[in-house]
Amino acid sequence: MPTDEQIKEIEDIITKAREVKDPASKEARDLYTKAIKLADEYFKIERPKEEIGEPEYDPVRNPPDGKNSGETSPTEKDGEGKAKTTLGPGAFVSDGKPSARWLAAVKVHEYAHAGVGVELRDPTDAEIKQMKEMGLKDDDIKKIKIPQFKTNDVNEEEVIAYDAMLKKAKDLGLSDSEIEWIKNQKKSFYNKMSDEKKKKYKAQEPWLGVRFSQPDFKAVVGPFIVPKGTPVFFDKDQSWNLPRCMRVDELANLRFEGDYQKLFSLNPGFSVEVAALQTLLFGPHGTSPVASTPNRLLLGSPVFLADGSLTRLPGEIETPCPGGTVLVRHAYSECESDGLWHVVEDDYVSCPPQGGVTKYRVFDMATTRACKDGAAPRPVDVAYKDLHGDSTCQSPKYIGDIIISECVDGLWENATYPLYECLDGTRRVSLPAKDRRRSDIPCSSAPSPGKVEP
Ligand SMILES: [Zn+2]
Repeated sequence: MPTDEQIKEIEDIITKAREVKDPASKEARDLYTKAIKLADEYFKIERPKEEIGEPEYDPVRNPPDGKNSGETSPTEKDGEGKAKTTLGPGAFVSDGKPSARWLAAVKVHEYAHAGVGVELRDPTDAEIKQMKEMGLKDDDIKKIKIPQFKTNDVNEEEVIAYDAMLKKAKDLGLSDSEIEWIKNQKKSFYNKMSDEKKKKYKAQEPWLGVRFSQPDFKAVVGPFIVPKGTPVFFDKDQSWNLPRCMRVDELANLRFEGDYQKLFSLNPGFSVEVAALQTLLFGPHGTSPVASTPNRLLLGSPVFLADGSLTRLPGEIETPCPGGTVLVRHAYSECESDGLWHVVEDDYVSCPPQGGVTKYRVFDMATTRACKDGAAPRPVDVAYKDLHGDSTCQSPKYIGDIIISECVDGLWENATYPLYECLDGTRRVSLPAKDRRRSDIPCSSAPSPGKVEP
């Protein structure tokens, strides 16, 4: 156990780090990094062999207001299954105060995630097909190994990780209320492991909490692959083993008259396939930023490559700097490397501390229209629907304006619409446009939102 002086030393560093205005600055990063290092040293926490190194401070992956204060993802390094941990500002405080003991406890939790072991496996046929859909080349796909935690069960992993914290709680000197909180967390994941709860959970949120409006749902789920040989139920008693692998949309059209609802209610197992794939692509946490962002699409996800790096794919989006101010939202249609029209949104954000303007791709939705099949779809027809008369949008809240570039007679026209966010996180615009400006940019070139001023 560390001495009182050592605890104070760590907590003084955390206090200093918290006083730095920008949690993403080098100054804050250096201080937090030092606190992380000292916690291992003073608390003598053993790092499992799976961890590729000291946890990294990362306030973007683990934002201060997010659900996770830390995250451990399976990864690949030099042909071995490894894990990488990042910690956000939340890992350094308990009950609003700097806490060396809590930092040590969070590290114990994350190390326990890594400690379950990581294996590398070849992608399944379905995943290979999926990656092809995402625009990856055959040569690259051959190199891909998928790292995955050996338990391959998010809930079980959380139970293990919270349990590791409980086992060390007394040694670390955690308070009663902290221990109580950990117990509750463990229980919540434990409950999810029971069959009964699982069934209920699947029925409620078959997509791990990713919400899509009805038209998007089809666009998103449609390209997923159902493996060959999968029994498909048409009604409660009658099933059919798929003679070849089939896309969800193909199957829905072939045997369910395009009724996805019916397909999935009769075949809830399909959702497990998709959920498993999502876990593989995004890491072990069901509460990943991806899953909690309603508009983000599964297909536009990063894929882990053999060298552990991430590849940028059509549909991938970016997280703006923490604490930034959105100056301009700009949506338009764009032809991407998967050969499909996408509706995308670029936000121009003023980032602290200097206030420089950075462009972020915050939204990217693949449409079903192929680039070769004609003109760009209008964003207001596909992704930014009219608020009026739409009963699916509850308690709409005005969140600012959006400039949508629309192709009119071969030239881009910039229309400005008030933008609303519904209770479920989806967005709508209010038609008609309150301003419309014709540009001299041909639709064959990328549109511009015009001048962006802080
Ligand atoms: Zn965890």
